[in-house]
Amino acid sequence: MQVAVIGCGYVGLVAAACLAELGHDVICVDTDREKITLLNSGESLIHEEYLPELLCRHRGKRLFFSWDLEEAVRQSLIVIIAVGTPANESGDADLSYVETATREIAKALNSHKTIVEKSTVPVQTNAWIERAMALNGCSASDFDVVSNPEFLREGTAVTDFLYPDRIIVGSRNHRAAKLMRQLYGKLLDGSYSVGEGAIPAPDDAASVPLYMDTSPETSELIKHASNAFLAMKISFINAVSVIAEATGADIEDVRVGLGSDKRIGSAFLRAGIGYGGSCFPKDVSAFQAIAAACGTDFKLLQDVRQINEDQLKRFVAMVRKALWTVKGKRLAVLGLAFKSDTDDVRESPAIKVIRELLEQECQITVYDPGAMERARIVLKDSVNYAAEPYLAMNDADALLILTEWKEFAKLDLTRVRTLLKYPIVLDGRNLYSPGQMREAGLNYYSIGRPPVEVLHPVPARANVAKIG
Ligand code: NAD
Repeated sequence: MQVAVIGCGYVGLVAAACLAELGHDVICVDTDREKITLLNSGESLIHEEYLPELLCRHRGKRLFFSWDLEEAVRQSLIVIIAVGTPANESGDADLSYVETATREIAKALNSHKTIVEKSTVPVQTNAWIERAMALNGCSASDFDVVSNPEFLREGTAVTDFLYPDRIIVGSRNHRAAKLMRQLYGKLLDGSYSVGEGAIPAPDDAASVPLYMDTSPETSELIKHASNAFLAMKISFINAVSVIAEATGADIEDVRVGLGSDKRIGSAFLRAGIGYGGSCFPKDVSAFQAIAAACGTDFKLLQDVRQINEDQLKRFVAMVRKALWTVKGKRLAVLGLAFKSDTDDVRESPAIKVIRELLEQECQITVYDPGAMERARIVLKDSVNYAAEPYLAMNDADALLILTEWKEFAKLDLTRVRTLLKYPIVLDGRNLYSPGQMREAGLNYYSIGRPPVEVLHPVPARANVAKIG
């Protein structure tokens, strides 16, 4: 099938490469000409496992990059919208990119198109797209609009796309529903995974995904509710971690005990410095806004957001407490990406912690295995950049771990102890056990667990748990 994908971001680029891998002819378009030039010159643009292989395999054969949206639409049967839907100032989703893309599709319409809305949008956006198409002169018989939310996670985006748990399709007629089944045909009959050269399936992949045909409104609601629920799980365990910290319980054991209940599940139950990224923060607030517009005060979502903000402030307070004073202190920071295995720093808790500590006049040296380049764009020269983790630690007053990259969980702790000026580690992702740190002779502060204070315990203070 001939497919146009609008937006070459994390979702559009991965979707385009994976659809080419499934045998479709894809043109991926973006208004950002620099992105298109780089993609055409062989760059992958984002840090994502298997993406370079797929681009190399299909670029110039079944996969093309262009800034000519009109031509891409004219050549295609299916047009996928994968543009950004950031939060606007009041918290609801800014749908202006979706609207612009819709208008441009309408302008280019030369034959029947199935418009697939893949960006994460509030419920009823598909209905708005239908309306905008009509207002821009398109007859209802010339297009279908389908909701097909994307559930990929950055870091495992390619395998998430090719081996999804579920594919949700919200459409209003049989024609569109049938076409969408064809689009994903090789995933639905399992033929992709057994084909020659297939990207290997993750161990826990379902043999075939759940395929759900539903209405656009239901499909849109599934996506927003999914992200809000996952964010809620993170905030829940973080709120429990505060109780663990205050009472001497161990949040890591609580997590295992809690998550082993099949009704609860262990995913997204890791205590830390909170969720970030380009999805959860904006999707939770957009979901709250749409709930309010529907006449329900979804207060739970407000609490989810508040706990997330508090968790970050709590961590900064923990740094202050461990260091006594922070002004002028030299800190080594490992981790800039909002989570591991991605270069994405959008809404990264790590960047927020760094900014807060810079405000308090710390001197910071950072390292991240994937996100240095993107972090430089936002942090500029406010921090020093180290070429490897141990260089960041050299003569630092403390080490802060802010992203859960696997390599940060395997540091040579003897070397850490030797390099640091003071043996202080603050772990915002609970990558180590207190026992390991004690053995290495390091003072260790983590989330929801008693601190390890091998040298000169910090005196208890009545207000240490207070935020801000
Ligand atoms: P992104 O910001 O990385 O990419 C969006 C791209 O769209 C940009 O390159 C931008 O230049 C381009 N664009 C905007 N308007 C355009 C237009 N009119 N024509 C052509 N290109 C245009 O965003 P993303 O992370 O890929 O997310 C896209 C959508 O998918 C969002 O709604 C997001 O919530 C959702 N989503 C993201 C993820 C994720 O992990 N990033 C996962 C699932 C869903």
